[in-house]
Amino acid sequence: MEKSPEAMCAPAPRGLLLVISSPSGAGKTTLARRLAAEFALRFSVSFTTRSPRPGEVEGQDYCFVSNARFDEMIAAQEFAEWAVVHGNRYGTSITTVEQAVRNGSDCLFDVDFQGGRQIRRQWPDDSVLCFILPPSMDELERRLRRRATDAPEVIDRRLAMACKELEHYGEYDYLVVNDNLPRAYEELRAVYVAARTTRKRREGVARALLAEAAARRPLDP
Ligand code: ADP
Ligand code: 5GP
Repeated sequence: MEKSPEAMCAPAPRGLLLVISSPSGAGKTTLARRLAAEFALRFSVSFTTRSPRPGEVEGQDYCFVSNARFDEMIAAQEFAEWAVVHGNRYGTSITTVEQAVRNGSDCLFDVDFQGGRQIRRQWPDDSVLCFILPPSMDELERRLRRRATDAPEVIDRRLAMACKELEHYGEYDYLVVNDNLPRAYEELRAVYVAARTTRKRREGVARALLAEAAARRPLDP
């Protein structure tokens, strides 16, 4: 694999925390998984008290835990953030966040607005928040029903909650509209590439080059 500019001549910057949120069914999991695959990004696997859906894999989609275990994890301060979403509890491992930041390995977080807000508050300089919008509420409903992973009453509850989630778009840095999947993916990809090339994140490369240039400069006559 080709070396990144940072790996060539400067210490790696802190890892980027890319938070992706959306109303349920807007396509954030589809988009996030694709981005993680293309860039070999770490994907933060959350803990949840919700039951697994058919096809979901323990440790890959979620770590499924009991309410009692979730309580223990809160008490032991094992979460960077946690929240109640659609009646179940979900939480992000503090170890995942700290390792990403410390080791310079960028990481993706599929969390709701409460999680996004908590990550932003604790890691304001390391986090970038992206919100995925569905093209319309009718299309959101169609996707949820077509996905058919939840019972009809659960889908109704998720649709009712979509409005509450959408109200928080103002807390996000970027809004990607997932109408056409390839186009939405290009937008998300552009957000990630732009986020990792900000001056703040590339400053180490520039400084290392300057030091190298200064060392090579022939002595003044
Ligand atoms: P979320 O993680 O936001 O709940 P998913 O990624 O599970 O959403 O997507 C919900 C459903 O919509 C899935 O069946 C997915 O294949 C489908 N989907 C995602 N993006 C699009 C799109 N642009 N057009 C049509 N269907 C889509
Ligand atoms: P689902 O049950 O459809 O997988 O997820 C429901 C909601 O929970 C989604 O909005 C998802 O982003 C959110 N979620 C998943 N993991 C976490 C987490 O660790 N923390 C928070 N705050 N939300 C999460």
